[in-house]
Amino acid sequence: MKNSNFHQETKAIHAADGADKDSRPLSTPIFQTATFEVKAIEEQLKAAATDSFYTRYGNPNFTACETTLAALELAEAALVFSSGMAAITNSVLAVVQAGDHVIAQSDLYGTTYKFFTQWLPRYGIEITFIETNNLDEVKKALRPNTKLLYLETPTNPILKLVDLKAMAAWAKTKSIITIVDNTFNSPINLQPLPLGIDVVVHSATKYLCGHADLVCGAVASSADFIRKIYGVRSTLGSIMDAHAAWLLLRGMRSLPIRIERVNQNALRIAEFLQHHKSIKKVYYPFLASHPQYELAMTQMKGGGGIVTFEIKGSEEQACKIVNSLKLFAIAPSLGGLESLVTMPALTTHFEISKEERMRIGVSDQLIRLAIGIENVEDLIADLEQALNK
Ligand SMILES: *Cc1c(COP(=O)(O)O)cnc(C)c1O
Repeated sequence: MKNSNFHQETKAIHAADGADKDSRPLSTPIFQTATFEVKAIEEQLKAAATDSFYTRYGNPNFTACETTLAALELAEAALVFSSGMAAITNSVLAVVQAGDHVIAQSDLYGTTYKFFTQWLPRYGIEITFIETNNLDEVKKALRPNTKLLYLETPTNPILKLVDLKAMAAWAKTKSIITIVDNTFNSPINLQPLPLGIDVVVHSATKYLCGHADLVCGAVASSADFIRKIYGVRSTLGSIMDAHAAWLLLRGMRSLPIRIERVNQNALRIAEFLQHHKSIKKVYYPFLASHPQYELAMTQMKGGGGIVTFEIKGSEEQACKIVNSLKLFAIAPSLGGLESLVTMPALTTHFEISKEERMRIGVSDQLIRLAIGIENVEDLIADLEQALNK
């Protein structure tokens, strides 16, 4: 792609276009191969530095996804992984070592929290959990050996926002590396790198893939960080397979228009829920009632697809509403074409004590919607019939 000033919709489709040739397949073929042959042994060493050497190191199907994500995230480079957790753990391992200290958001994605609490301490890495949307708390957590500030915005499930520009600016003055999990936004709603963040990680399983048929991950950053993370990926072997990467690229090509629809649907649904008599509270960044609405408006291009709400009434009534929905599938995850519904107290947060859950706002009556690209009137009608039962 010659013009880096193209809009996101054009980049999503054309960033990975091959070099101009007289005739080539319009879509990238699947390089379903473990290894690549060279014409003469003298070429072998040169091939090792490319994506056509041995698939644990790289593969042209990975490159197509990586080129596209780098273009969308305004990054110098990107890498794909076998899962979001592989992207997260490989990136963290690339920047910390024994003796280092990490500061992280207290209500992180559950498995990331598990990695930080159950694995990093084994390798002599200390960790402090705080509210990263409060810069004073972050400053108080600082130690002489703090190496990494790990952020998530918006948080799951109550969608607290972190001011990435402010965090990145402070971290730079202390030589602390910043990583942000950008899964909930996708690069269409938020591009963290131009705000000063060092590394962006994704569960590509969600919006980047967009069809709920793959588990995969991705990272975008400077060429320098990507070289370090590449060293971890090729050693730990946390790579995708070529066919999955081919499907991921197919999904990424429609990312901008999917996100546009998801943003519109979710805002309409959040507004509908806010005015419903059975509902106590709605969490959505683009509602004026969100405590960080101003930050949402400056930092995000769209509110994203997660809408969380608390009903007036009991846990049984909340369960009854969920079971009465006909268009929303009861399933964890997000980012597919179809709308999903979960109750965080029974899924993502079931291992957390009730007191702790209440402290972070995850009550028994909390319902989380992951909005898809269906017609919004049909989704609202479904919610209405379920709420009126
Ligand atoms: C799903 C998710 C992950 C984990 O990704 P996997 O692809 O399941 O490994 C990490 N962070 C966030 C915010 C997620 O939603």
